[in-house]
Amino acid sequence: MRVVVVGGGIGGLALGAGLRRQGFDVAVFDRDTDVTATGGYHITLDGRAQAALRGLIAPELFERLLASASALRLRERDAFWDRRGRLLGHGPDLSTESSVDIDRITLRSLLAEAVGEDLRLGRVVTGIDRAGDGTPRALFADGAPVPGDLLVGADGAHSLVARQLAGRPTNAPAGIIGFSGRTTLDALDPGERQRLGPRSGLAIGPRGAALYVGFLDPVGNAVLGAPHLRMSITTGPTYIWGAMFPESAATEPLRHLRGVELRDALSARFRELRWHPRTLEVLDRADPHSVAAFRFNAASTKASDLAPWPAGPVTALGDAVHATPPTAGMGAGAAIRDAASLVEHLREAGTGETALAVAISRFEAEMRVRGSEVLTLAMRTVRWILATDTPLGAAATVAGTPLFAALRRLSRR
Ligand SMILES: Cc1cc2nc3c(=O)[nH]c(=O)nc-3n(C[C@H](O)[C@H](O)[C@H](O)COP(=O)(O)OP(=O)(O)OC[C@H]3O[C@@H](n4cnc5c(N)ncnc54)[C@H](O)[C@@H]3O)c2cc1C
Repeated sequence: MRVVVVGGGIGGLALGAGLRRQGFDVAVFDRDTDVTATGGYHITLDGRAQAALRGLIAPELFERLLASASALRLRERDAFWDRRGRLLGHGPDLSTESSVDIDRITLRSLLAEAVGEDLRLGRVVTGIDRAGDGTPRALFADGAPVPGDLLVGADGAHSLVARQLAGRPTNAPAGIIGFSGRTTLDALDPGERQRLGPRSGLAIGPRGAALYVGFLDPVGNAVLGAPHLRMSITTGPTYIWGAMFPESAATEPLRHLRGVELRDALSARFRELRWHPRTLEVLDRADPHSVAAFRFNAASTKASDLAPWPAGPVTALGDAVHATPPTAGMGAGAAIRDAASLVEHLREAGTGETALAVAISRFEAEMRVRGSEVLTLAMRTVRWILATDTPLGAAATVAGTPLFAALRRLSRR
């Protein structure tokens, strides 16, 4: 069976790798010309995503992945702060946590290696159609159509394939705009270094402003102590932060800024909202080249709304079906699990059109449940942030957070 995959992001490459490993004839097309010339920070892989990857790529590649990843279990508990930098509480103990964090570029490079020459870079898919005999085809502006027995859209949140299948976009802006950047631990003053510590943290203020500070250390917190196998882009303790605001006329100009200008404008926005300067040090000391804006898009949390098309020889997976805001750190993991599930169902399928339709139908049913689960988790934080943007929510945040901080101090005496 020949499978044409549109999109060589995390999900498309995971699928290509798994199909190739099982002996399928596969071609993955991506518009990027270089897998490492891509944005992105770190990707969290939970136990289920790691189990899926183990089946999709060779053991030797999986070892390199673990040697390049940072273990959550080696991190201290997450911290919750208010906008003045006062500690409100901690997240659960992470010592038994199996999740790992890995640079998106490293993960993509490893998966691309697994796909090998079946990955075709610099190929923009402009549409899909059916040949006279019903065979699905990927269309290109710069070449002949490529037919396959199965065509899979792994083309991300703005998927052309899923839009065509559903007859409408499969997701919409979630109402939050995010900005990311990276700041090395040693760029911070000792006081702030100590406050933030070797852990991730989240601060939420009134008017929906939130600052997530994720701690990544693939060297000091390596999952597997094998430095000769390490491929991480991050080479020392680093905070990967994400600033979030409800989309509004005030945030619109920020979307068009880059580098130092964007970094400074973000800091100014937090200051207008009366965040304490020390909480913004991590942002002010970021590498300006790393600072970028991204809009949160989200699909419906209802399983029955996902992949709303009859099962057939064209399907989709990952963000194309269940675009998930990064607030639960599960979008990439879900795309990988989609890929593993599709490989498994195709492997078990007999030959012929009906067997293929049954396999796709089973795969899509599982994907709807998986997508709904991760979207529900991710949207919880989105709704929480948006709730602080109402007059009542803003008042409750202003009044409630000092109280939480004071109670915490008293409880420690
Ligand atoms: C640049 C970028 C940075 C990201 N950074 C992070 C991050 O730091 N942390 C995090 O948790 N998540 C990040 N994500 C999201 C995360 O990678 C996805 O949620 C997850 O990987 C879902 O995988 P996917 O394969 O469905 O989509 P994606 O990984 O988004 O892959 C889609 C791929 O399709 C390709 N494509 C789209 N349209 C076409 C077309 N017409 N023709 C050919 N190719 C096409 C794109 O080039 C892209 O490579 C990022 C996504 C992107 C695109």
